[in-house]
Amino acid sequence: MIDGAKQTLKQYFGYDSFRPGQERMVSAILSGEDALGVMPTGAGKSICYQVPALMLQGLTLVISPLVSLMGDQVRALKEVGARPSYLNSSLTPAQQNTVLKRASEGWYQIMYVAPERLSDPRFVEFAQRLVRPGGLGLPPIAVDEAHCISQWGQDFRPSYLAIADFINALPQRPVVAAFTATATNRVRDDISEMLGLHSPQSVVTGFDRANLSFNVEEMGDKAKATWIRDYALAHKDESGIVYCATRKAVDELSDELGRVLGPHGIRVARYHAGMGQQDRASEQAAFIADAAPLMVATNAFGMGIDKPNVRYVIHHNVPESIEAYYQEAGRAGRDGDPAACYLLWNGHDFSLRRFFIEKDVPDDTLSPEEREFARQNRYRLLAQMEGYCQTTGCLRAYILRYFGDEGALGIETGGASSSEGCGNCSNCLTRYEVEDVTDVALAALRMVAATGGRFGKALVADVLHGANTEKIRQFNLFDAPGYGAVGEVPLKRIKEVVDQLVGCGYLVQSQGRFPVVGLGPRADEALAPQHAGEFTFTVKKRASKTKSA
Ligand code: ADP
Ligand code: ZN
Repeated sequence: MIDGAKQTLKQYFGYDSFRPGQERMVSAILSGEDALGVMPTGAGKSICYQVPALMLQGLTLVISPLVSLMGDQVRALKEVGARPSYLNSSLTPAQQNTVLKRASEGWYQIMYVAPERLSDPRFVEFAQRLVRPGGLGLPPIAVDEAHCISQWGQDFRPSYLAIADFINALPQRPVVAAFTATATNRVRDDISEMLGLHSPQSVVTGFDRANLSFNVEEMGDKAKATWIRDYALAHKDESGIVYCATRKAVDELSDELGRVLGPHGIRVARYHAGMGQQDRASEQAAFIADAAPLMVATNAFGMGIDKPNVRYVIHHNVPESIEAYYQEAGRAGRDGDPAACYLLWNGHDFSLRRFFIEKDVPDDTLSPEEREFARQNRYRLLAQMEGYCQTTGCLRAYILRYFGDEGALGIETGGASSSEGCGNCSNCLTRYEVEDVTDVALAALRMVAATGGRFGKALVADVLHGANTEKIRQFNLFDAPGYGAVGEVPLKRIKEVVDQLVGCGYLVQSQGRFPVVGLGPRADEALAPQHAGEFTFTVKKRASKTKSA
């Protein structure tokens, strides 16, 4: 069966072999099993349903929200001699009739439809007729961007909820293959459940980008601009992108970089949604053509841009999720040559992100419950981003674990304690010294227990350190339980311990704009009397880089 598929692959697309994930998806679909493919953009998802569509009798339906891309897909398939079609609102009613008529006659092998179409009674009837005895039969249904069905993801679309009803209304159940470029475990489970997949083959591949090095650097706001300036100067023959969280930051930073780099003959381009259409287009063109090798932009920049020789992507601020980060950082090194990704961060980045979450205009197609769910979810996604900033384990392993592509490294990615890693990220290249901080950890846990979780992380650290800050005076915390309990330990170290306690689940941080910390699910392991004396807590301290990144 797979030999036939390889022939089809060669005949239509000219490729000699499937990529590993493609082969597993195609085999599953051809043998009548449901499948869920999680692959990043560019990994070759479309081949997975296009090859079976070209082999099987009848019409393969592809459900996709990307109406603007349907035309491109159809054109590309026509060029290789296939018989594709699409049905969406860009067609006139007369054109839609023609498409449906030709489809009923068995002309097409594949049809792209938007999810909204599945609630159109005429379309439902059309699909049902295909499946009835004497009809053409309905080969697989492919659901693209399947994460849109999950409220746990970033792009929930209520219209996706209609897919399961549509499938259930068919007289005979087709094989269903779902595809997405972004899915945490939770989203994957949700896709399976909401689409009603029958024990699907799960295929997660292609997330590793071996030529990218990942680097995380914590530094203050002022230091960031200096750092980026120096980096750009040291790499002035290379093309790079700097992502900022706000338009204002883009304007300020590109001005500053322009002042320094201009005299070296380097033009700095900028891009954000506050600029006019023409400015944006010309700045983008200058960057693509290497007339301006450095682009400073918000996340509005990059969609659909495929510049192969971007050698570095620096994040001046923390993005809203690991997905967003990986997508933006992944614009480096498209040509496969080594490229570097840097994430610069500090606590303000997270306050800013929390502010964005609180102030964002809610999507008015969602119910109040759905909106609240979306809000909470954004906090969850941000917490994962915070974990990435704080981990001392392999950064690549962290990302791959997030996307569920554990196999890619062939290494143990089980946790921060794993001694192995990719060897090409700032954590793998940093030697950490282990320090026993059990006394600080216990003091923090006891203090949070005694105060009932009223304080944020910084205030907890200040109290434990015995600081005399305005807040401490204002709330008169000099007599608070634990005040000055570990006064001899540097404040910075106490803060790190509190961060790590949150990271490890001994403490939890509440959501919202001014988060406070309370006892976490693991607090008992440290505080319960029956465990007295057993608990130890260590932090890793950056000792030195073993070699420069
Ligand atoms: P996705 O839909 O996952 O974003 P595409 O289907 O557009 O990815 O494929 C990405 C690129 O990889 C395309 O240029 C495609 O031609 C190429 N490609 C896909 N499968 C193969 C293969 N088996 N061998 C070689 N190139 C492939
Ligand atoms: Zn690593």
